[in-house]
Amino acid sequence: MDKPKLTIDEMAVFCKRKGFVYPNSEIYGGISGFYDFGHIGVELKNNIKKEWWKTFVHERDDIVGIDGSIIAHPMVWKASGHIDGFTDVLIDCTKCGTRFRGDTLIEDKLKILTAGMSLEDIAKELKQHKIKCLKCGNELSEPKRFNLMFSTNVGPVQTSSSVAFLRPETAQIIFADFRLVQENARLKLPFGIAQIGKAFRNEISPRDFLFRMREFEQMEIEYFVHPEKQDECEFIKDVLDYELNVLSAEMQKQNKKMQKMTIKDCLNKKIIKTKWHAYWLAMMHKWFVDLGANSEHFRIRQHVKNELSHYALETWDLEYEFPFGWKELQGLSNRTDFDLKQHIEHSKTDLSIFDEETKKKIIPHVICEPSQGVERAFLVFMFDAYHYDKSRDNVVLKLHPRLAPIKVGVFPLVSNKKELVDKAKEIYCNLKAEWTCTFDVSGSIGRRYARADEIGVYACVTVDFESLDDESVTIRSRDTTEQIRVKIKDLKEILKKFLDGERLGKLGERVE
Ligand code: ATP
Repeated sequence: MDKPKLTIDEMAVFCKRKGFVYPNSEIYGGISGFYDFGHIGVELKNNIKKEWWKTFVHERDDIVGIDGSIIAHPMVWKASGHIDGFTDVLIDCTKCGTRFRGDTLIEDKLKILTAGMSLEDIAKELKQHKIKCLKCGNELSEPKRFNLMFSTNVGPVQTSSSVAFLRPETAQIIFADFRLVQENARLKLPFGIAQIGKAFRNEISPRDFLFRMREFEQMEIEYFVHPEKQDECEFIKDVLDYELNVLSAEMQKQNKKMQKMTIKDCLNKKIIKTKWHAYWLAMMHKWFVDLGANSEHFRIRQHVKNELSHYALETWDLEYEFPFGWKELQGLSNRTDFDLKQHIEHSKTDLSIFDEETKKKIIPHVICEPSQGVERAFLVFMFDAYHYDKSRDNVVLKLHPRLAPIKVGVFPLVSNKKELVDKAKEIYCNLKAEWTCTFDVSGSIGRRYARADEIGVYACVTVDFESLDDESVTIRSRDTTEQIRVKIKDLKEILKKFLDGERLGKLGERVE
């Protein structure tokens, strides 16, 4: 299996240098866990969100979207269990004060899975293995629980009742709005409600660049089904032969390696319990692969028993092989009717649905909640697109054309001939009405191609001296460096076909 070629720190350096991602408020020394997206990065991030929304909302008849607010009534977080239970284990160094997350400290030092460990278990492991501060080697404090929600005050007077929280996940807003959305969109089970938006977690030790941040974005779907029809998935046939790397809870117990399996196998062998869960795992994996990610860098891993959250009946993570190991890219949980029931109880509001068939009220079950961090998806696409091309001696960012931050670069061959520059500018202005484009006149044409390759510009259009006579230009492919000559009047149509995935060589006369 080919490994990602960069470390996460090298990726952070590349992202900063090329205008993708900057450490937030760097002029003041930065603030850990917060990042800004630059002029190229914002385009990639927006394209990722646009593609996700298109696939899972616009192209489907069974899912609608919402855009909820970041601050909600505090009772939302009481009902969901976040106020009482959304905690990590915090350990301080008694001498230098460095703070560690208990589970990751033990996982890193002892290479064991800590999911579900109690405070006492963690304290025992620390003592038994004499784990000390990683920074100064001194004694560590007793582990304690730390709530990850950021709090703030709503209104001018700060009292205990003005305290509110920044949402740690987008999911709960979907549950709180459930009745309004279901009624107004006239949704019939099975159906989903999707949302993309910011989430905030006061992570104890944010690290690994965009992987663990304190402010990030999530793309989530709550997919609701009839409680008595939990295994009736009409779409399952679309994915039965779909193949992915699988690591079940049982395989982990037996210390077995992941295995390539089809969805059909997973269901027949009862490795994945419901068809819906299997369907969503395949769909989410496929979304990445369809957008150019390497299928071999992914696996699905089932949560072992003591790793499961309090609300989850079954959880699988879609994992990616990051340079620092296999890590969660997306969590897909069966949340049952836990959340709706909690909100019914705490809000005293009826959130049930009337079932026409049985003429009874029912509380739908969330058979699967695919929950994806936008920035982790961003990292995956960047790692899988990053290639160093020896013959060109520059990086080529082979992002899928739908994700490419800039689709077309327009270059006059030289910068000191006004007619040529004007002609190129005219073409650029015409194309940018259609796609994200860049216009570059500085440096040699080779240097400009290299600069374009590094930020993933999919096609370069060069206007040369002949263009002034024959009304033709050259198009160059980022991935193959193949070039064709086309008439300016046909340029848009040909670029459209090229951006839709056709091979450049098929679209015009090749230039050697
Ligand atoms: P982890 O175990 O890595 O802390 P989690 O299980 O707490 O993740 P979920 O609550 O399942 O994560 O969140 C769903 C998704 O949101 C994750 O799969 C990930 O893509 C994203 N996510 C969660 N926490 C962060 C974070 N601190 N920074 C960036 N993305 C995050």
